[in-house]
Amino acid sequence: MHTYDAALAQVVIGHVQHRLALDPVPLGGPGDPVELDAALKEAIGARPSAADQVIRLYADHIEPTVISCDSPRFLSFIPGAPTKAAALFDMVLAASSLHGVSWLEASGAVAAENQVLRLLADLAGMPGQAGGCFVSGGSAGNLSGLVVARDTARTASGDRIANPRIAVSSQAHSSISSTLRIIGVEALVVPVEDHRLTADALRAALAADPHPETVVAVVATAGTTNAGIIDDLSGIAEVAREQGLWFHVDAAYGGGALFSAELRSKFAGIEQADSVVMDPHKWMYTPFDCGALLYRNPALAAAVHTQDAGYLDCLHTEAPQEWNPSDYAYHLTRRPRGLPLWFSLAVNGTDAYRDAVDATRRTALQAAELVRAAEHLELLREPDLSVVLLRRTGWSHDDYYAWSKELLERQIAFVTPTVWEGETVARLAFLHPDITLGAVHEILATMAEPRG
Ligand SMILES: *Cc1c(COP(=O)(O)O)cnc(C)c1O
Repeated sequence: MHTYDAALAQVVIGHVQHRLALDPVPLGGPGDPVELDAALKEAIGARPSAADQVIRLYADHIEPTVISCDSPRFLSFIPGAPTKAAALFDMVLAASSLHGVSWLEASGAVAAENQVLRLLADLAGMPGQAGGCFVSGGSAGNLSGLVVARDTARTASGDRIANPRIAVSSQAHSSISSTLRIIGVEALVVPVEDHRLTADALRAALAADPHPETVVAVVATAGTTNAGIIDDLSGIAEVAREQGLWFHVDAAYGGGALFSAELRSKFAGIEQADSVVMDPHKWMYTPFDCGALLYRNPALAAAVHTQDAGYLDCLHTEAPQEWNPSDYAYHLTRRPRGLPLWFSLAVNGTDAYRDAVDATRRTALQAAELVRAAEHLELLREPDLSVVLLRRTGWSHDDYYAWSKELLERQIAFVTPTVWEGETVARLAFLHPDITLGAVHEILATMAEPRG
């Protein structure tokens, strides 16, 4: 199993070349469980199977039942559309068994990942000592960042706060409430107007609270997943400074917009964050799974996350001044998942990222225009980033779901409904720079068709 087999390599690489060259990538759709069971039944046995047959099994039954999130017509959730360079380089990580726990084991990989983290910190405007690590995604970043917020908080006299709480808006991502449940921290839920957390709302919630001294941190969202709304980051930063709160910014989806000069001003205040999460596997066109976690003062994070075990002592004694990614999140073993982004940034240049983000943003604005102009459609909110929310007048909840299913069956697009202010509506999340206005027209036209 550990001997290089050129024929096996050809089979696998041949498939990779085929998949990367598809244009357009078929959308695909959910498989039938009975058919999948039957197809996969004999895949694994005590005896070997021919690699070309197994790849065919994969190509015929597995790949088409995974909806292609890298298709420009994938407009659900937050799509993922890696650059070709990033996708290819991801294979180098796997082929070289690159791991990225510590400087001792992986110095070059750590240095390259840190180069990318520095670039992201510069986009955010964070100070020179800012740093962190790549994690599996926004959920892992939020969890790791908020553990540091919790464990770093102290009373004025330096004691640990017994029952710390964290202020969040009702619009924060689901991974934030999940994090708080995991780390045993209660939320102070700040009511918001127009779905956006503001300094005034945070101040008012703290003033009305009987125990504001137990609130140790505030979470702001820079690009809500449902609607792309950016909280009042500079105002919240000011309240955080006044009241000694850790300021965490969840920019998992929005972070890529920092590449755009036009969109950057909407993020004013992010540079003051104590911790920031951005997902390169969203709007920075990097393969799954890649989240970036940055701290204003990484030493605080290392004090919380560094793992202690006799067999790990060498990581900290042999290169004591150097950077160990494992010290900055709850993980230990990790792939240097920042490297595909490093390679792609290098071979494409950062201007290409700016242009891709700007192109996406332009399409979102044009789509919003088309919605506004259509008699049967209503634009629910001017898009802050690249998510467009719309209502089809007269449609019920079931109409949206039936329409979504049909769009996929007809391979026109993958567009799933969402809920906005208690009502089921349609949502288009733009991310792929190659989505055409023609495709948007085609999708919106299907909403004019009568239902039932
Ligand atoms: C996607 C997202 C997350 C979760 O990130 P994963 O990478 O899916 O774990 C968290 N917060 C926001 C705002 C997101 O858009």
